[in-house]
This record gives sequence, structure tokens and C-alpha cells, in this order.
Amino acid sequence: MIKNIIKIVFGCCIVLLFLHCKNEGEKDNFSKSEMENEKSDKFYHYSIWHAFVNKIFEGDITAAEVKANGDIGLGSYNLLDGELIMLDGELYQAKEDGTVVIPNDTTKVVYANATFFDVDDSFELESVADYETLRKHINRKLSSKNMFYAFKIHGEFKRMKCGGLHKQAKPFNDGLDILIPNRPIFERENFSGTMVGFFCPEFIGDINASGYHLHFISDDKEFAGHVMEFEAKNLKIEIDEIHEYQFVLPQTEAYKQVGFEKEFQYKKQ
Ligand SMILES: [Zn+2]
Repeated sequence: MIKNIIKIVFGCCIVLLFLHCKNEGEKDNFSKSEMENEKSDKFYHYSIWHAFVNKIFEGDITAAEVKANGDIGLGSYNLLDGELIMLDGELYQAKEDGTVVIPNDTTKVVYANATFFDVDDSFELESVADYETLRKHINRKLSSKNMFYAFKIHGEFKRMKCGGLHKQAKPFNDGLDILIPNRPIFERENFSGTMVGFFCPEFIGDINASGYHLHFISDDKEFAGHVMEFEAKNLKIEIDEIHEYQFVLPQTEAYKQVGFEKEFQYKKQ
């Protein structure tokens, strides 16, 4: 399938940052080992974070396409019908009523981040009081704030607070800046699960969420959502450093016509 793909390749060569724009045809020149390396170390990103604010709530890729581009990930489904969580190659849909289901391969996705996870570094924490404490610990492990990172973090959660999304219907009245402060909140105590997500550098701007963005799925697959706050113990933090970024734009009419006018009115979490 032909898509408009802007590929930004960040290659770090000691002190030089090379920026390449490649098209799909150039892949033919890659050796087999280069292709395998590319698959394992690519940050796949569909749609623009800032489009949510401007009420772009329908995408044109499917759940199957997200799975073809990674085995962990996060995002949202069309009409904001739940938070998207991908763990170990399986997609989950955390609905607005708090239930968690496995979507069909044909279910449409409005926004997604994904990667094929491979562990570059890992460490363990016996006790973590809150999200901010975890961020500080991970910050010390990151080799640079100018790279992309994926995380897989399993542990026991004394408490976990996740955000969901209210499903929207046309005509769309409110952007994400209005919807997020009024999002459904789900809380659970004393259970285990996995946080999956990403760190994006500040320079990502309005294209994606900068800083940390984590989603969660419980081991029993009955509780999931966007990580807001937690208290945890026995966390195993696995980190995948990523140097390549694949940015895929929607080809919907609504996306083609949208003006990116509004700014976020809430603090990104
Ligand atoms: Zn989220």
C-alpha cells in the first residue's frame, strides 16, 4: 500500500547528526542485515498529536497495520473509542466504561506509536512512590534526551490511576484540549501489570507527545488505559533506544482540510 511517508532518520555519528529523507524505493538498496536492523529499531508514528486538538478523530489505518509495525505500542481508536495498548504483539482496547477488549484486525486507529521492542538496557526498582519518581530514575539511565526510547515496565502496583477516553460522535464539538480534563478515570489497587510507552525529545513539538507517554495493561488483561499516576514495587524497567523515526500521515479528507489552529490548554502527562 502506498502511503505518504516522511522518514526522518536520526543517525548519531559521534558528534554529527545526519538527517536523511528516504523514500520506500531506496529500501531496495539495503542489505538484509540493514533491513533487519531497521525493523527492530524504528519508531512508527501514525497521525499528528496536535490533530486531536483540532478534532481529527478518524484515522485510515487498521489494528492489523499497527501490529505490522511493532509489538509494543500505544494510541487510540477511531472516534476515540478507547485507549490503545499493544503488548507482546497483542492489541487491547480500553473502552470508556472501563472494560478491556481485543479489537478486530479491521478496527480503525486514529493515532498510534509502535516499535518492535528489543532490550538495550534494564534495571529494577524495589519501590516507586509515584510517576515523577520513576521518570527521575529513568532519566538517569537515558544516554541522551535527543534520542527516542521505548519502555516495557512490569511490576506490582499498590495503586494505579489510568485515564480513558469518551467515545465521540459526529459532528465533533470538542477537541482533545476539552476532552482530556473530563476524561473517564479508572483506579485499581494491589495487582500486577505492564506499562508500555515512549520518550520523545522536546523537539518533537506538536507532532507527537514530548517527554514520557505510557499506557498500561494488567496481567489479567482486565484493566488498562493511559497512565496518570501510580505507586509500585518490584518494577523491572526495560529500555529500547531508538534512532529512526517513521512518520505516517492520514489520507482522510478531514485531515487534508484541517487547520492546526488551537493550542493545548492542558499539561501533557
Ligand atoms: Zn495516552
